[in-house]
Amino acid sequence: MFTEADALERDAADPGHRDLFHVPPAEGGRYAEAAYLAGNSLGLQPRATRGDLLDDLDAWARLGVEGHLDAARPWLPYHEFLTGTAARLVGARPAETVVMNSLTVNLHLLMVSFYRPTGTRTKIVIEDTAFPSDSYAVRSQARFHGLDPDATVVRLDPADVLAYLAREGHEVALVLLGGVNYLTGELMDIPAITRAGHEAGALVGWDLAHAAGNVPLELHEWGPDFAAWCSYKYLNSGPGALGGVFVHERHLGDPAVQRFEGWWSTEPATRFEMAPVSRPPATADAWQVSNPPIYAMGPVRTSLEIFDRIGMADLRARSVRLTGYLESLLDELPTTLVTPRDPGRRGSQLSLRISTGSAHELAKRLRFEFGVITDAREPDIVRAAPVPLYCSYHDCWRLADALAHILEEAR
Ligand SMILES: *Cc1c(COP(=O)(O)O)cnc(C)c1O
Repeated sequence: MFTEADALERDAADPGHRDLFHVPPAEGGRYAEAAYLAGNSLGLQPRATRGDLLDDLDAWARLGVEGHLDAARPWLPYHEFLTGTAARLVGARPAETVVMNSLTVNLHLLMVSFYRPTGTRTKIVIEDTAFPSDSYAVRSQARFHGLDPDATVVRLDPADVLAYLAREGHEVALVLLGGVNYLTGELMDIPAITRAGHEAGALVGWDLAHAAGNVPLELHEWGPDFAAWCSYKYLNSGPGALGGVFVHERHLGDPAVQRFEGWWSTEPATRFEMAPVSRPPATADAWQVSNPPIYAMGPVRTSLEIFDRIGMADLRARSVRLTGYLESLLDELPTTLVTPRDPGRRGSQLSLRISTGSAHELAKRLRFEFGVITDAREPDIVRAAPVPLYCSYHDCWRLADALAHILEEAR
């Protein structure tokens, strides 16, 4: 039943938005375009990005310094053009949201505010499969406070977090977990863990690198103290693109919350008075430090507008259909799925454990012999993300078909 013709029929009935994106050419196999299943690692380029970016560049050529105020999209308030769409994407209020810097930098700026170890409440809880950048960030924060990182950072299996908080929560200063785990693709119960962290008296932050643009989020309602995400994975804003930050309303304008400041931390009306003391606004904008890179903001703006136009509800529905379809195809093969089978506990990523050979070798063969782009994590995990914006049922079918060939050969 899972034939190529069936995949093409599904695409005709449920086409997605592939026409809005540049799909790279295949480097092998019998199709012109790659089956691009690596959007969890680096999203594809929207066709609109180039023109929008050139418009912003032209403003600089034509206006020089006057572009700060006179450009069609003036540079002075440019970050504000991204706030509304970013806030809607993650279920936040605009005042709680700002796009700035990159993800790990933002985690540090947010930990300056929300990791404040005192007395015996010093621990930071992260997951045992945390992304390395997050592991290094929290360990360096512990050292920054004069604490021993080995004793301070508690790495837990996500399944054990609630029990740990109930037992040892009085020693926890901060819970900082990935909303969707980068390796397994598991979606955490963000509201439940946030509640448990708060009941234990800890602050709670979320790294949404693999969640933003992938699963629906309601950050204001769920109530974590902060969150941060990058924009180059599901958010298609280009390598190293600027990240997003959420700070819950309850902390906005609170003078007791410490922040590192620069001239973009102060309210815009008095920014150019060159006053020696800042007057930070009661919004997440107060976490900004420097004037932002316009040509890095542009692609984020273009991409967020696509999400805003289509809506996460539609994208989530297609993601569930497409990911379920890929799961059914893979179930016909001798592969082991490490991602949860419940669609409510995952986004658009399926991670496979392979039992023969290296994951990198397999991903290489998929790419050069079949034109299928996946992503490998040593020793034995291959990740595939049927991203609902631009992936097709045929892309999923091509992955399964290529895997069937390779695995058959290895037997
Ligand atoms: C992708 C990713 C990062 C990358 O951090 P940058 O600071 O943007 O380089 C960090 N943490 C997680 C969980 C990620 O998935």
